[in-house]
Amino acid sequence: MAQKKKKRKLSVEDLTEMCTMCGAKCCKYFSLEIDEPDCKDEYEDVRWYLCHEKTWVFIDDEKWYLYLINKCRYLDENNLCTIYDKRPRICREHNQRDCEIDSDVFYDVLFKNINDFEKYLEMKGEKYW
Ligand code: SF4
Ligand code: SF4
Repeated sequence: MAQKKKKRKLSVEDLTEMCTMCGAKCCKYFSLEIDEPDCKDEYEDVRWYLCHEKTWVFIDDEKWYLYLINKCRYLDENNLCTIYDKRPRICREHNQRDCEIDSDVFYDVLFKNINDFEKYLEMKGEKYW
């Protein structure tokens, strides 16, 4: 099960240290919500996503997401944003106090490859091939 999301009670100094130590993990991936697959064609779409390197699919709170491990092109070698004043809305609205990057679990179910997904379907009694 996913852990409950808690607001962090951290000072500005704590937050600065946390982000410095972390190495800007939040600038090195992105995730997008996708429709829950419920037919053979949609299972095939998930299998296709999972054929790609650095691409995972996860379920959290019954919602499905595509997770792409892909660094932002505007992050420099010191893990600093080179377009900070013009960074996109998602970056501007990201609250460090909500950061779950060091949480053990950010998902209920994670598929790292097609085998993981096929095992999940088998466990649910879904036979599609
Ligand atoms: S917000 Fe979280 S993931 Fe992003 S740099 Fe700070 S600690 Fe790392
Ligand atoms: S635009 Fe800047 S803050 Fe946003 S992901 Fe890229 S490096 Fe990070």
